[in-house]
Amino acid sequence: MRIEKNAVVGIEYTLTGEDGQVIDSSREREPLYYIQGLGQIIPGLETALEGRSHGEELRVKVPPEAGYGEHRRELIREVPKERFPDDADLEIGNQFRASSEQGPIVVTVTQVAEEVVTVDANHPLAGETLNFEVEIVEVREASTEELDHGHVHGQDGHDHA
Ligand code: ZN
Repeated sequence: MRIEKNAVVGIEYTLTGEDGQVIDSSREREPLYYIQGLGQIIPGLETALEGRSHGEELRVKVPPEAGYGEHRRELIREVPKERFPDDADLEIGNQFRASSEQGPIVVTVTQVAEEVVTVDANHPLAGETLNFEVEIVEVREASTEELDHGHVHGQDGHDHA
């Protein structure tokens, strides 16, 4: 079958950034399984996979607007140090959960000064053009239960122990 809405899809992928460095790869782990059409992967990749079938290999270039969004300056904030827990490890690159008007977010520390900490709520890959090498390793219909739960079951997916 071809990849269409509500299909269970398994892919092996390698993601490289604009500089050609590998950012992430499923090859060191297991294939990524998701349900097509539910927004479980970035839009640019989901669109490129629509209509494809098992065994196909493709290269997909995803611009920021179809990936993790543009890097937005307004998502960079200076936060007084006292707003962090006493035992917080305030080092550049460390990530913290925070609340925002849009719900919980993850922020990354980008600068630490005496009184304030600069945090960036952009996704680490915001503003990046992403290059995916993808191999489609499974396409099947989702079960009713999988569609109810909104995730993939089975040996390669999530397991209800
Ligand atoms: Zn489930």
